[in-house]
Amino acid sequence: MLLVIPVPVRDDLRALEGYHSPQVDVRVRLNTNESPMGPPAEWRDEFAAELSRVSWHRYPDRAATELRGAIAALHGVSPRQVFAANGSNEVLQTLLLTYAGPGRTVATFEPTYQLHAHIARLTGATVVETDRRPDFTLDPETAVDVIERHRPMVALLCSPNNPTGLVEPESTVRAVLRAVPGLLVVDEAYGQFAPWSALGLVGDDAPLVVTRTFSKTWSMAGARLGYLVGPTWLVAELDKVVLPYHLDAAKQIGGRLALRFVDDMEARVKTIVTERERIVAALDRLPVDHVPSGANFVLFRPTGIPGRSVWQGLLERSVLVRDCSSWPRLDDCLRVTVGTADENDVFITALQEVLA
Ligand code: PMP
Repeated sequence: MLLVIPVPVRDDLRALEGYHSPQVDVRVRLNTNESPMGPPAEWRDEFAAELSRVSWHRYPDRAATELRGAIAALHGVSPRQVFAANGSNEVLQTLLLTYAGPGRTVATFEPTYQLHAHIARLTGATVVETDRRPDFTLDPETAVDVIERHRPMVALLCSPNNPTGLVEPESTVRAVLRAVPGLLVVDEAYGQFAPWSALGLVGDDAPLVVTRTFSKTWSMAGARLGYLVGPTWLVAELDKVVLPYHLDAAKQIGGRLALRFVDDMEARVKTIVTERERIVAALDRLPVDHVPSGANFVLFRPTGIPGRSVWQGLLERSVLVRDCSSWPRLDDCLRVTVGTADENDVFITALQEVLA
């Protein structure tokens, strides 16, 4: 038998674990913070019509001019301040490839979106993880102190934060921005749910970028499209690092057309917030602690029964939520994404049964 010795990976990647988000076949899937509703029918029709006219034998517009222009118009900025990529994950990856890397430090405030530290490590950077308070809020003095001691080239905040749902106060974002010697990235994947946005702080005179996605409120997780708004000097650097023609023609069309349906998106946000408050009211009547959410999900911790057992009990009732119970700093925590009214009813009933 031929013995094949695997080719060794980079030394710094050997201990790294991949990103896991199990996709299980269940009736009610509330584990990945997607929109429970699809995009409007008119969007589908217009998308199909434009797709039929694409010159598929040609490379797409490398600069994604129309898409960038439409995103810029949405936010009232210059297209030169917009960088789009295949999901905000690729936006983050391009940012970190450009500004992190070996010999540089990246600061995260945990618990937060796991891919921030993961991608930073993939680039070879040193990651300094700082704990939030036990209630998951960030002490701005601690943040500033860590930044002054470690001098990170990139600091990452997430608002509303995944998986806690907490919105970062503007004063904290401003304090971190003032302190950071490099770049501050504010991940606003759930930004439309929040009462304020760091987008208002972006400009050529500030080392700040805000990342957004089409995967949540725009109901287009299947399209894989995200973007950032930042200084023009930064966007010019990212354009050098990202692969040529990384945004295919279909994605450019789909994203541009989606922005014609802002009212539909805002209506979905309203519906989801109403449903979220209904879930929160139900959690208030159950033996669980939960974190105040400014997003389309709620983090909760059953009291007196292990989180993992509750997750299993929900799964047995064909309800899948995110099991965060074994993640660092999140003992026994579960995260439920707000679904349709029917899905939320099934979740609430199942949780009542499991906790009874
Ligand atoms: N940032 C945060 C905070 C997220 O929760 C997610 C998705 N789970 C992303 C970024 C990535 O989103 P996408 O790549 O689909 O745009």
